[in-house]
Amino acid sequence: MAKQKKFIFVTGGVLSSIGKGISAASIGMLMEQRGLKVTMIKMDPYLNVDPGTMSPFQHGEVFVLDDGAETDLDLGHYSRFVQSAQFTRKNSFTTGRIYDAVIRRERAGGYLGKTVQVIPHITDEIKRHMHEASNDVDLAIVEVGGTVGDIESLPFLEAIRQMRAEQGADNVLFVHLTLVPYIATAGELKTKPTQHSVRELREIGIQPDILLCRSDRKLPKDVKDKIGLFCNVPGEQVFSAIDVSSIYEVPLYFHEEGLDEKIAEKLGIWSGRPDLSKWAHMVEKIRNPKHEITIGIVGKYTDWRDSYKSLSEALIHGGVANDVRVNMLYIDSEEVEKGKDELLRSVDGILIPGGFGERGVEGKIQAIQYARQEGVPFFGICLGMQLAVIEFSRHVAGLKEANSAEFKPEGKENVIDIMESQKNLTDKGGTMRLGAYACQVQTKSAGKTTRAYSAYGRETISERHRHRFEVSNQFRAILEEKGLVFSGKHRNTENGTELVEMAELPNHPWFLGCQFHPEFLSKPLMPHPLFTAFIRAVRDANKGPQHSLKGIK
Ligand code: GLN
Repeated sequence: MAKQKKFIFVTGGVLSSIGKGISAASIGMLMEQRGLKVTMIKMDPYLNVDPGTMSPFQHGEVFVLDDGAETDLDLGHYSRFVQSAQFTRKNSFTTGRIYDAVIRRERAGGYLGKTVQVIPHITDEIKRHMHEASNDVDLAIVEVGGTVGDIESLPFLEAIRQMRAEQGADNVLFVHLTLVPYIATAGELKTKPTQHSVRELREIGIQPDILLCRSDRKLPKDVKDKIGLFCNVPGEQVFSAIDVSSIYEVPLYFHEEGLDEKIAEKLGIWSGRPDLSKWAHMVEKIRNPKHEITIGIVGKYTDWRDSYKSLSEALIHGGVANDVRVNMLYIDSEEVEKGKDELLRSVDGILIPGGFGERGVEGKIQAIQYARQEGVPFFGICLGMQLAVIEFSRHVAGLKEANSAEFKPEGKENVIDIMESQKNLTDKGGTMRLGAYACQVQTKSAGKTTRAYSAYGRETISERHRHRFEVSNQFRAILEEKGLVFSGKHRNTENGTELVEMAELPNHPWFLGCQFHPEFLSKPLMPHPLFTAFIRAVRDANKGPQHSLKGIK
């Protein structure tokens, strides 16, 4: 008989943004460390088929997977916490995707004349998606997006209710995350919002097994018992989820509270105790580093940090690798454009992240020029790399009109352009280079090891992409002649064309841009090589007199 697969469903109550994604990921991490094969699934209740078309203002970062799926940022948390799971487009789906599948089947005559309804057809499709994403695992942790009580999430909740009946109570666990606020004027932790939220769940037929209570302090036993009594959950199945200074502390804290032990017991899983020593060591490095630096992130969505979630995590990981606390200063590129560049002068390294659209682009180019000329370590990602190529073209290679076809479609010196092979694809989604592509790393340039190779130590790598434009091959020779080194290239084996993946300046403390998004592959226990190298360069540059290499050309 096949091994019985188990499910944990994680729902959230009271309000959003109380850490459901991190809690689910932390449970996944703990259960994986107990020796189980774990996968994680995110179900989002909005109607977009995927978040690829949503502004990061609306929904935070779009997290890209190897297979090119554009997913919710929680998949980023899962990837960073659950070390060996491989996520694909199956691990993240939305109401839009479910309805799309059902409506297509209906049009194709797949329902044989039946009336197609939310129950059972939509709920069946949701269950089918959950099963497909959890083939071959011991445990699937499924996070339901949104907050209990939203109209949108009802079909998902109904589907997980049915799962309990179908899979058996021993194989399904409902974990509910709520908020227990401390009201200073009353000097009390308030349990009422939790009671209401659980009542709402019970009304639709879901009795939570485990409550995770987010609060600013540990819940005393009497509060846990009270919550348990009102919510019909034994007190020892009520856990506090206190605010911690780093998200990576969450699983350690849950473990201390006995959460993974309780889950294993409730699901009847025989498993060992987790070895969390490496993880604890990493957390210790985050808490007590030897050095401290500040990276200026020059971007457009400056006040919405969720749109740079993976990026800020990857910087933290690079810090762990170098025993450095990385402070991040978000600098609005439009402020730089207005001439306010004192912020640039206050940072130890400059990073320009990915982005779309023309707003603030000139400010970013100014920041790059500053970094290049003043010898400040610079890291450009995707749009950041494209702008570094434009900056170099304009100010070093004499291509005064240098630009990107994204901003100047008819430009004569578009060093960033749509490549021939992509020009006939007019559909917006179709022209995106999405997902993993191989890249050849050049080992040396003019006898010197390239920054790219020093970082990776490998000649073939694979990195994730999400962009439309590329460095134009037409201008490559001029730029190379002027000193820009294209140290990473993708070779298309079908049509023989080459695409630039990395560009760097050899005579600079550290100046590198990459067309891909390395932040999607960085994990706390496996910091990404480029982030490690960048942070190391910043740390080492910071040791001597500040920015001592002024005037570098
Ligand atoms: N807007 C640029 C492009 O589409 C860069 C995209 C990005 O930074 N992700 O090519």
